[in-house]
Amino acid sequence: MRKQKQEFTKKIIPNNPLDPLLLQILPQAKEQQKRAGFLQDPLGEKTAQPIPGLLHKYFGRVLLLVTNTCPIYCRFCFRRYLNDMITDWQSVLNYIAKNPEIKEVILSGGDPLMLKSQELATIINKLAKIKHVQILRVHTRVPIAAPKLITQQLITALTSTRLPVVMVVHSNHPQELDTKVAAAVKKLKRANILVLNQSVLLKKINDDTKTLIALSEKLFATGILPYYLHLLDKVQGTAHFYVGSTQARKLHKIMTEKLPGFLVPKLVYEKRGAKSKVLV
Ligand code: SF4
Repeated sequence: MRKQKQEFTKKIIPNNPLDPLLLQILPQAKEQQKRAGFLQDPLGEKTAQPIPGLLHKYFGRVLLLVTNTCPIYCRFCFRRYLNDMITDWQSVLNYIAKNPEIKEVILSGGDPLMLKSQELATIINKLAKIKHVQILRVHTRVPIAAPKLITQQLITALTSTRLPVVMVVHSNHPQELDTKVAAAVKKLKRANILVLNQSVLLKKINDDTKTLIALSEKLFATGILPYYLHLLDKVQGTAHFYVGSTQARKLHKIMTEKLPGFLVPKLVYEKRGAKSKVLV
């Protein structure tokens, strides 16, 4: 674990207390300040679990909390107070099997790629046996924060069933993307895995158009398509990262004017109880 963590920290530029990667992982005293509207569970994820560790918020898909381990621990994480994970796999599989409208299963957590390849393969094989499941999606920061973990064994675990795999990685700043990340993404794409990115708009980290445009361009050069740019979920202790919707819209408009459409991520936020993500 320490070795993997170094892969992200190595990209931090020394002697710069405002380094955009450092700011994502450095605990700060201001996290202790309470701010109105910033809650421990702003998205109501505790109550959206018909089975512990299975989130069923949107039509046609469920999200599984398969682990609560991550390659890095982001200080703005929307699940920083949610340590739930699946303990009863049989109940989870039964739930999916009994709900034929569930076409997509999303592995999340924590980071699902922190599981051993064999554990991952076992889960995916069981999901693939449920006929109405058509898509496997994986939400992960591993290719960005610990690209060495993208091994052939892991790729085989992901791709040896009938399920097409969509991987949504999480990168917030172009400085996170280097040749090791590009090599990991190349392996994934060779295995026919579609690789998309979601970012969070973060104050003093990526809340300027120069950085956001450079991020989209570098993602593309790395083999990843920009997918979502999220407003920060209002989680307790993260208010110092928050960028409001008016500023977000301005930044997004300039991105739209300066980038080809396929490099402009959708600007969205999650609203408690909504049937999908909401466009800003
Ligand atoms: S890697 Fe993802 S789940 Fe883990 S701490 Fe960061 S944002 Fe949260």
